[in-house]
Amino acid sequence: MSIAGAYWRGDEKNKMLQRVYGTAWESKDQLKEYLNQLEEAKKRDHRKLGKELEIFMFDDEVGPGLPLWLPNGGILIEELEKLAKDMEDKAGYLRVKTPILTKEDLFVRSGHLPYYAESMYPPMEIEGVKYYVKPMNCPMHHKIFGSKGRSYRDLPVRLAEYGTCYRYEKSGELFGLMRVRSMQMNDAHIYCSEEQFEQEFMGVVALYRKYFELFGIEKYVMRLSLHSKAGLGKKYVDNERLWLKTEEMVRRAMDNGGVPYVEREDEAAFYGPKIDVQVWSAIGREFSLMTNQVDFAVPERFDLKFTNKEGVDEIPLCIHRAPLSTHERMVGFLLEHYAGNFPVWLSPEQVRVISITDAQNDYAESVAKQLRENGIRAQADLSSQRMNAKIRQAQLMKVPYMLVVGDNEMAAGQVSLRGRDGSQQNNIPLEEFVARAKDKIARRASEL
Ligand SMILES: [Zn+2]
Repeated sequence: MSIAGAYWRGDEKNKMLQRVYGTAWESKDQLKEYLNQLEEAKKRDHRKLGKELEIFMFDDEVGPGLPLWLPNGGILIEELEKLAKDMEDKAGYLRVKTPILTKEDLFVRSGHLPYYAESMYPPMEIEGVKYYVKPMNCPMHHKIFGSKGRSYRDLPVRLAEYGTCYRYEKSGELFGLMRVRSMQMNDAHIYCSEEQFEQEFMGVVALYRKYFELFGIEKYVMRLSLHSKAGLGKKYVDNERLWLKTEEMVRRAMDNGGVPYVEREDEAAFYGPKIDVQVWSAIGREFSLMTNQVDFAVPERFDLKFTNKEGVDEIPLCIHRAPLSTHERMVGFLLEHYAGNFPVWLSPEQVRVISITDAQNDYAESVAKQLRENGIRAQADLSSQRMNAKIRQAQLMKVPYMLVVGDNEMAAGQVSLRGRDGSQQNNIPLEEFVARAKDKIARRASEL
């Protein structure tokens, strides 16, 4: 299949050897299927599509692992945030905003230092105080929860933020949008009592499933990541009793909810067990996207409490969750999953209006304007190219709807529709097309 250089036993002081990669299958058909899938994956590579569709770029002077979102990528991000907000508003989340920089003390208290120091950028010193850029949003959200007295009646409190975090990844490990150094996370923290835990945890799992349905993700596996005894006090907070108790709570919640999962030891977060979600894209490529974590350790470190029914202070549990992952991973995944053919609601450009000759340019422009006034992302191609060349251009950018306008359409206030999928429908009244497109977008329909 391919070759690569490799140091003997992974030690760069040793001799460089040649590694030869191969693949083996039981039958010719299986081999063929595998090779086809590889070929398809190459075509769908998010780095290639991201460039062609002008979604994102990297720049040497900006730095590795720090993506720049181009206008089309900006639209994807905005749509994903709108989606998250719609779903989270309905589920009772409250939105907050927190700074990117914080004092060292906060991360010492949260336990990120020293447990997570390797993944953090080194500190900068201002007025004799060390500051870090945040690798996670949690400590700030804990501060917000702890900013006033809470009673059991106020719980659960669900704080959400699309926060930008920075994590250090070795340059050799960076990979397109999948492994980056700056990321915007679909983050939220749910503070709840032990009795509320199961319902809240399963509420998050239900949210995952709604997203899977929306994006047509049919294959996924939920993995319960547990601590390891050997890692206690090193990788994991040193409290075995609480580890076992919370792991059992998650297990029970998943069992009661009838959600299938597998268990994996020594993969937990340092503060508690988590559910990691692997999903498979349309062509069967595996992605590790989302996570849902239980935190039994940190609320105490932050002195978080609420007054229970008996009037006694109790420490809440905290659920960390990010069903839409980070913008970087999600967009990378969606690019490959859809091969760039985003559903209409997500498409950066939803409609391209194509005039047949210059004589219809004014009409084409007025159609595009009307579409934009109706909240539809549309542009008119008024270039002097032939119609077929204009259609090809729109197809290359994977625009879902192309509206061709000639003299007949202009005279009747109509458009002729060509779908990205090759479908064609002539002479549709413009208002009818507008209504149809608006409906598809509002429903976030998957079909054209
Ligand atoms: Zn968190």
